[in-house]
Amino acid sequence: MIRERILVAGGAGFIGSHLCESLLRQGADVLCLDNLFSGTRRNILPLVEHPYFEFIRHDVTQPILLEVDRIYNLASPAAPVHYQYNPVKTVKTNVMGTLNLLGLAKRVGARILQASTSEVYGDPLVHPQREDYWGNVNPIGPRSCYDEGKRVAESLMINYRRQNGVDVRIARIFNTYGPRMSEVDGRVVSNFVVQALREKPLTVYGDGSQTRSFCFVSDLVAGLEQLMDADWVPGPVNLGSPRECSILSLAELILELTGSKSEIQFGLIPVDDPVRRRPDIGRAERHLDWEPFVGLREGLQRTIPYYQELLARNPPG
Ligand code: NAD
Ligand code: UDP
Repeated sequence: MIRERILVAGGAGFIGSHLCESLLRQGADVLCLDNLFSGTRRNILPLVEHPYFEFIRHDVTQPILLEVDRIYNLASPAAPVHYQYNPVKTVKTNVMGTLNLLGLAKRVGARILQASTSEVYGDPLVHPQREDYWGNVNPIGPRSCYDEGKRVAESLMINYRRQNGVDVRIARIFNTYGPRMSEVDGRVVSNFVVQALREKPLTVYGDGSQTRSFCFVSDLVAGLEQLMDADWVPGPVNLGSPRECSILSLAELILELTGSKSEIQFGLIPVDDPVRRRPDIGRAERHLDWEPFVGLREGLQRTIPYYQELLARNPPG
């Protein structure tokens, strides 16, 4: 059997570790590359004994030469707390990192998939968001290091296709959650679940009427793989859940599912926080025959035990 050699940059992160695991299950030879900025060894611990898994500690802002057939580029801080920690580095990771991996793809003839984001739509004026919407991004705001970094990464991908014939794929990922999302990166699902389990107040920013559409990680990983495998797609593809919910209703659902007595505490809304977000997934349905299956309630029920175990191993104080 000839195994495909697949590079997963950002493979020690939340989504990346699930992707590595799934690719190994399907018989691939997986190279997981990560600088461990927001990813952890803990995420890939179950994989390190696998004979076709290799971990390379490397920063994508530096070039690297490898023999691979396919590249998934997930290397980028993804949570606002992480990407705003060192905004210049966030831009460098998305621009220079993508450039380096595109150079590699061109050199070895690999197909490359870029993990882009719903943040390319900024605070969208069109709802739900379709791939042909150009977005409403503040180019100088606190989120711009990430949003504009990802927009340049998309431009690089498309121009390497036009200019050099590189086989590129762009996934615009919407809010995704599940086990292994860092408990300290400040994203809403991990924040609320950890706060609920610790009987601490749930920190709803603003009045909680802003919306997101939450996709469970196994569905998202299937979408990434189907996009990579597809013979042809017309351009970027939205991957996410089309079921929208308010942040306040998410908090209430998490309180119900954890049986927590925590209160809800309302705080300041972050600058440029998008008001509404929901993907139109028509393109993924038509071209990839993909749609998410795991509902929010079920996904949370599969996520909460991960944080329960984690907190049991690391009690506060
Ligand atoms: P994550 O922070 O858990 O994973 C990102 C990984 O990239 C981490 O392991 C981190 O250490 C690594 N990384 C960061 N900078 C690097 C560098 N310079 N060199 C090498 N590795 C580097 O976040 P995630 O949620 O798993 O996100 C994965 C990808 O998906 C990111 O590109 C993110 O922008 C994209 N995305 C995620 C979501 C989501 O809701 N989770 C939504 C939209 C887009
Ligand atoms: N949010 C919140 N409390 C938290 C963390 C986040 O109310 O403790 C809100 C945040 O303001 C945003 C939504 O939840 O409106 C999703 O935030 P997250 O950082 O998870 O993702 P993003 O803003 O990138 O979609």
